[in-house]
Order: sequence, then structure tokens, then C-alpha cells
Amino acid sequence: MPNCIFCKIAEHNLNADIIYEDNDIVAFRDLKPQAPTHLLLIPREHIPTIEEASPAILGKLMSKASELAKKEGISAKGYRTVINCRDYAGQSVYHLHVHLLGGRWFHWPPG
Ligand code: AMP
Repeated sequence: MPNCIFCKIAEHNLNADIIYEDNDIVAFRDLKPQAPTHLLLIPREHIPTIEEASPAILGKLMSKASELAKKEGISAKGYRTVINCRDYAGQSVYHLHVHLLGGRWFHWPPG
């Protein structure tokens, strides 16, 4: 998708701190981290929201999130994964992404 910043990151046409990539997904550090560790995991394919995503890609994103949580050293104390969908949830980039946040306490219910 030409004007999608996450497509550009996946294609290496926009700079990002990429920490993992394979044929299907890319993981990189959020530009404005909301926690000491804040990663974004995206499909390479332009999928706007969770609703257009296949079970296979969702499974891959989530299992890689838990793998990266261990690698980032946030697993033992706990972490949060978040997928915002559309306006009420605050989705600002319409290319599916999983937030992986850790390194501090999180409140529940979320704001
Ligand atoms: P959301 O509000 O769920 O759509 O999350 C979008 C996230 O993308 C926010 O946490 C932004 O800080 C992050 N973000 C936006 N642009 C970039 C970028 N160029 N590189 C890394 N993270 C970005």
C-alpha cells in the first residue's frame, strides 16, 4: 500500500529499529515507546485491521510476540499484548500491528 508507513518499514523504505523479520512478519521498536520495552509486530502484507487477518497470520504474530518477550527479558515479570481496532480503540495506523509492552506495571481495566 503506497502511503502506508508500516508497509514502508516492512520494505526497508523507511527507517526503523527492526529486531526480527521473516517472510511473513516484521518486528520493530515503537517510535514513541509507552513502556521500557515496546515492540510492534506486523504482517508484511498490508492488512488494515484484525478483522481482515487470517488465523494463520494472527497465530504467527502472537506466538512470535511471546518468543520476543522472552528474548527481550520481559517474560518473567509479565507483559501485555495489544491490538487496537479502529477509532474507539485508538488505532492510528491502519496496517495490523500487535503492541508488545513490558518492563513496568500496567493498569486494568485499560484507559
Ligand atoms: P496504534 O495507535 O495502535 O495504531 O499504534 C500505532 C503505533 O505506531 C504507535 O504506538 C506509534 O508510536 C507507532 N509508530 C508510528 N509511526 C512509527 C514509526 N515510523 N516507527 C515506529 N513506530 C511508529
